[in-house]
Amino acid sequence: MKRYFNIVFLVFICFACIVSSERFTSVMNYKYEIGSDKPLGKPITIVIDPGHGGRDPGKVGVNNALEKDVNLVIAMKLKNLLEQNDINVIMTRTEDVGLYSDADSNKKRADMNARVHIIRDSGADLAISIHQNSFTEEYVKGAQVFYYSESAEGKRLAEITQTQIVKTIADGNHRKAKSNTNYFMLTKSNCPMVIVECGYMSNIREAALLNDEDYQEKMAYAIHLAIMSYINRNVGAIHQGERVSA
Ligand SMILES: [Zn+2]
Repeated sequence: MKRYFNIVFLVFICFACIVSSERFTSVMNYKYEIGSDKPLGKPITIVIDPGHGGRDPGKVGVNNALEKDVNLVIAMKLKNLLEQNDINVIMTRTEDVGLYSDADSNKKRADMNARVHIIRDSGADLAISIHQNSFTEEYVKGAQVFYYSESAEGKRLAEITQTQIVKTIADGNHRKAKSNTNYFMLTKSNCPMVIVECGYMSNIREAALLNDEDYQEKMAYAIHLAIMSYINRNVGAIHQGERVSA
């Protein structure tokens, strides 16, 4: 009889764990009606924008790696990590293409406009653009996160992301999140947005790391931790179905 009781008790505990973990997930990542605990059933949506693509390679590394390829690999890893947290992810691209047509006379402009439209039309809560940096001096290195100078929420997201990358990568990077006044996508985004420059492709060691799968995974992991942290801190605004304006 006692044994039977133990089994019933264990089953009950397992059931309770499953129910509470599901509830936790939904509380974490679904929006709620203002002033109520009624879920709206709308998951948090994030746009991930792997910079460049197609005829635009972005920066070319000292090891001849192309920025557009590094951006896409890190972005796809980030997508997977966020989806594991029930985040609805929209990608501006999932392959080596630019967002323009042959008919566009100014392909760079068409490409940038298309990326902005994806962010604006999707009703995204956040947008993250993934890029790599380059400089004339080889010794310059280290990831850096940029935000629009007029966006308080962009700044918060950028600072959380910069701190998390520095902590996770642990390479002695002293860079701080940096404001920007004129980067097209940052100025046109209608939700908090950051540009993550994951590293310098002009630095021999960093260029090699940015091509290493473990390092790419680590970078994506750091960015995903930062996003989850930002969402959790914004629980009052995002979860109440209000969009946090840029
Ligand atoms: Zn770039």
